[in-house]
Amino acid sequence: MTDIAFQHPFDDDKLHEECGVFGVFGNVEAAALTALGLHALQHRGQEACGIVSFDNTQFHSHRSIGRVGDNFGDEAVIAGLAGHCAIGHNRYSTSGEPALRNVQPLFADLGHGGLAIAHNGNLTNAQTLRNELVSRGSIFQSTMDSEVIIHLTATSRQARIVDRLTDALRQVVGAYSLVVLTSKKLIGVRDPMGIRPLVLGRLDEAYILASETCALEIIGAEFVREIDPGEMVVVDEDGITSHRPFPTHPRRFCIFEHVYFARPDSIFDDRSVYEARKRIGAELAKESHAPADLVIPIPDSGTPAALGYAQQVGLPFELGIIRNHYIGRTFIEPTDQIRHLGVRLKHSANAPLVKGKRIVLVDDSIVRGTTSTKIVTMMREAGASEVHMRIASPPTAHSCYYGVDTPERSKLLAARYDLAEMARLIGVDTLAFVSIDGLYRAMGETSRNEGQPQYCDACFTGDYPLALVDRDGGQETQLSLLNERR
Ligand code: AMP
Repeated sequence: MTDIAFQHPFDDDKLHEECGVFGVFGNVEAAALTALGLHALQHRGQEACGIVSFDNTQFHSHRSIGRVGDNFGDEAVIAGLAGHCAIGHNRYSTSGEPALRNVQPLFADLGHGGLAIAHNGNLTNAQTLRNELVSRGSIFQSTMDSEVIIHLTATSRQARIVDRLTDALRQVVGAYSLVVLTSKKLIGVRDPMGIRPLVLGRLDEAYILASETCALEIIGAEFVREIDPGEMVVVDEDGITSHRPFPTHPRRFCIFEHVYFARPDSIFDDRSVYEARKRIGAELAKESHAPADLVIPIPDSGTPAALGYAQQVGLPFELGIIRNHYIGRTFIEPTDQIRHLGVRLKHSANAPLVKGKRIVLVDDSIVRGTTSTKIVTMMREAGASEVHMRIASPPTAHSCYYGVDTPERSKLLAARYDLAEMARLIGVDTLAFVSIDGLYRAMGETSRNEGQPQYCDACFTGDYPLALVDRDGGQETQLSLLNERR
């Protein structure tokens, strides 16, 4: 889900968005369960959230800026979302003032009835499609790429909703995990490469769809299986059916979900995210350990990798940086300046621990280098005698166009500088990143299969498995006309 009209992807350093989706079919508490599911998926998006339910007569919708607890903690709000089925969405966007019209689930009254849609991912031909649709008379209500799916569904000549949606999705290029609600069905779809996650769960008679297994856990639902890449599951009064309407592609799940984005207690493809992160830390230690006294995680995202690193080399794992949990991402990220300040608000040094010590700092990734630079300064000010930084991913040298928030390439530290320059800029004694093969080894592979990589790792390799149609197709002119700041 991306705001295509807000700014052009290549002018905007914070366009790409991460999201969480959730859906329930067949439980009288559908909206309350959805609120809980969204709460467990809060890390996937904190800017806005929404739920749409259906009560056999009408759809109900509540969409709001802010976090799930603030918007769905009120019983009256949940009571207003009546029905046995509901879908929900968490939106993450780091740029500008969010507009309510861009908060999902998006809803439209189509010729065949209401349709609500929640999308995690990013369509790479959304602007191209939007231009075509607008020229044929479509009137868009939001600036979300996801809305093209609604218009394509609305204009499909197929009769049944499943076929209309299939028709629409055959025209889009990009990464998508969708949950869709109609008056009769809950539909879950994953793009043909399965770039973004989507899992199926069961709670008594009800079926659940969620971005991650941690959202099943919170409601006590049983994990059934992942939705396969290119699979569409349809849940209705008759049960669940599985459809495979798209040409098959080898799976290319986003490896960055394992590195950073997913919650560590989630499981993808039988792999625990927490264990994967620990193994990445162990690989990192095998590849590039520096003599030191302590291993210190940059909390929270660097913690499992730091633990794996410390266990591998047999060094003490210590909390040398204390994180203030009351600083929200939304607060710290609207501008580079505030981000800069935010790191100080978010982390402080455990000075008595680090004073006079040679430390290894472990983080999951370096994007712009803001976090690492600030943390290293903080550690030096706290008296660390040597600071070595180890990163549990290869250098992030390419932007993501498939739904993870990364800035434009020119703002990525690793796209601008080599290893020695990065180390100097960050101010460390030594700097090392896990190798791409080390990352794949941590995922249980022997190495990256160069001919057919097992994951989408475009942010590290620049190997984009799906065409970047809007970028490469010359749609810039129209986009700049739509470029409105709210
Ligand atoms: P930076 O400070 O720009 O180098 O960003 C790196 C820090 O941001 C690391 O501590 C990561 O845990 C975190 N991070 C990495 N990727 C993302 C992302 N897509 N959205 C938000 N934070 C991220």
